[in-house]
Order: sequence, then C-alpha cells, then structure tokens
Amino acid sequence: TPAVIPMAVKGTTLGALVIYRKEPIPAASHEFQFLYVYTSLIASIIEHALIDMQAQMQAKTDSLTGIANHRMFQEQLQREMSRADRRRSEFGFVLIDIDNFKIINDTYGHLVGDRILKDLTQRVSLVIRQGDLLARYGGEEFALILPDTGAAGAQRLAERVRETIECRPYESEDLRIPYSISLGGPSYNRKSPRDRDSLISDSDRALYLSKSNGKNRVSIC
Ligand code: GH3
Ligand code: MG
Ligand code: MG
Repeated sequence: TPAVIPMAVKGTTLGALVIYRKEPIPAASHEFQFLYVYTSLIASIIEHALIDMQAQMQAKTDSLTGIANHRMFQEQLQREMSRADRRRSEFGFVLIDIDNFKIINDTYGHLVGDRILKDLTQRVSLVIRQGDLLARYGGEEFALILPDTGAAGAQRLAERVRETIECRPYESEDLRIPYSISLGGPSYNRKSPRDRDSLISDSDRALYLSKSNGKNRVSIC
C-alpha cells in the first residue's frame, strides 16, 4: 500500500512523496511524522530553487518581449568571443534597427509600437537556429549572435531576417502596418581579433551604411 504525502508550500502543491511498502504506515506513527517533516523540508528547498531560477531568468530577459536583455547579450557576447578565440572558430554578429520607428510611434502610439517590437522578436525567433541568440540591444535595436557562423552565413541569415519582416505587415484585429528593418554586422574571426567595443562600433557603422543606402537592407563589412 502506498503512503502519499503531499509536498505543499503556501497552499500550492509542488508534488507528492509516495512510498510503497508491504505494511501500511499508520498516520499517527513517528515514522509518518518524520516523513511528513522530511517532505515539507524538501518542498521548501524546491520552492527556493524555483524562486531563484525565476529571479535569474527575470534578470536576463527583457520584460516587454521576453527575449534576452542587454545584460544577457553582453554576457553571451563575451562568452562567444572567448570561445571563438579558443577554438579558432568564427561567429556572426548582426545589429538590427527598425526603420522609421518614430513615425510608427507618432502615427499609431507607443502601445502599438510596443506590439510591433513583440511582433518582430516573435518572427525573427522563428528564422534563427537553436544556438543563435536574439537580444534586445536597446529601445528598438536588437542584436543577433550566431555561433560558428562566418561572414557569408551571417549575411545569408540577416537577409532572411530582413525578408521575414518585409514580406508581411504587422497585423492585429484593426491594424495592418507594414514595417521594415535595417541590419549591419562585421565578420569576426581568429585572423582579425577584435575587442567587444570595436565589434560593436564596426556593426554600428555597417548599420549606418544600411540606413544611408535607403534602409530595409543588410550590410556586412
Ligand atoms: P531610422 O529608420 O533611422 O532608424 O529612424 P527611426 O525613426 O527608427 O529612428 P531611431 O532609430 O532614432 O528611433 C528610435 C525610436 O524608437 C525613438 C523612440 O521613441 C522609439 N522607441 C525606443 N524604445 C521604444 C519602446 O520600447 N517602445 C516604443 N513604442 N518605442 C520605442
Ligand atoms: Mg535606433
Ligand atoms: Mg530605427
């Protein structure tokens, strides 16, 4: 007969401790009481671990879009740069900036602007690979970190991301708003080691090139 002892914390059941034994455990026995205390101890350890995990997640994600925030982006970039140095491999880096976002905000309001930011992250998330990272770099700027990807691969992916946004407008019940993005990035490899700052300023320059050449385009240089 199984003895079932629920693992509950503040009214929420996390699970149960189930013990199978030939002899039933009487509810009034010391043994049962021990199991009861033991179970509540485990429950509170699990609860703390869950709260801790949640806090760690929140510290690293952007609350509006649910993707990686600037902090996680910095960490991941550092990690990827060291990994590429160590393994003499490459990784791709791309900055994304929404075109004419001020006009969108001015025309439809900030709340709709926010919805477009979410729309963008959802759609871009669908075209990148599992190990790639999409992060919110700043207000309406995003960054892609692409492990084991050379300049040509980064260019291909960036082009796919651009098309994915261009090919259909943001749509809600009452709105249909076409929008586009500009992208820019350098190639990064062992032969031309770069520090984080020059990687980002090179990408900024590439992004600026996309903007000055008419927006809705990719520049990798
Ligand atoms: P460009 O094509 O040159 O990029 O033009 P732009 O209008 O997009 O210019 P810019 O990138 O300088 O504009 C950024 C705008 O994005 C200004 C700011 O109000 C808006 N913005 C930044 N963060 C947010 C946000 O979280 N929500 C909304 N709705 N708007 C934001
Ligand atoms: Mg911008
Ligand atoms: Mg912009």
